[in-house]
Amino acid sequence: MEGFHVLMYHELIKKEDFDYANYKGIKVQQDYQDILPPVLFAHLEAFESQMKYLYEEGYVTLTLRDVIDFYYHNKALPEKSVLLTFDDLYKSILLYAYPILKKYNFHAVGFVVKDWLFEEVQSYSTTQSVCLSKQELEQMKDVFEYANHTKALHTRKAGQGALQIVDKSSFIEDMKDCEQYVGTKNVFAYPFGIYTDENIDWLKGEGFLLAFTSVDGLEDTYEKNNDIDTNHCNLIKFIPWLRKEGSCDRLYN
Ligand SMILES: [Zn+2]
Repeated sequence: MEGFHVLMYHELIKKEDFDYANYKGIKVQQDYQDILPPVLFAHLEAFESQMKYLYEEGYVTLTLRDVIDFYYHNKALPEKSVLLTFDDLYKSILLYAYPILKKYNFHAVGFVVKDWLFEEVQSYSTTQSVCLSKQELEQMKDVFEYANHTKALHTRKAGQGALQIVDKSSFIEDMKDCEQYVGTKNVFAYPFGIYTDENIDWLKGEGFLLAFTSVDGLEDTYEKNNDIDTNHCNLIKFIPWLRKEGSCDRLYN
């Protein structure tokens, strides 16, 4: 297959714990409130079966260096390869994803909003998306590499993302701050997947090599009635998508 697929995860939650009617949104260090839409929750059971499938089928979990080498140095990728990405880094990633990834000796990418990371470890909650602490990110470094998801520009107001209204110097200042913190340089993920042509130019001007957005994928099975059980992320949809020819589409999961 030419290219590879990118899987995008936000929150993992046990099926029995998922109760969107009582969901209170994100809890982050920055003074900012938001909610994740239901589609950004993946059931733990579905995640487990996806990772087991990848392992049993012999998929290689790529590093960002592999992806850069593929795009910029014509380096071939393994026939079966996938990039696992986790945005925002909530508690469920340490609690649930990390042990599973470690068990399979998988590699993953965490896109970090620097100002969302707590200085002190917080408790897990089934009704809030609680961000991890800096110390917890360190704990997961044998599995995760971290890249830039802004310092404090993962915000939106009245339907507009901060990246759509910010000026160039503020953007670059913010971007450089997060860039100093993360281990993997010159790779960016747009908050909410939203970007402008200017944003692309600014990132290129600063030497960025990759910037991730998101495309519709498995979530097309999600019905507007908040019934997340409807085939959500199960293998029936997952396997055909993995086998599809294609380059770099990042799948909501
Ligand atoms: Zn995000």
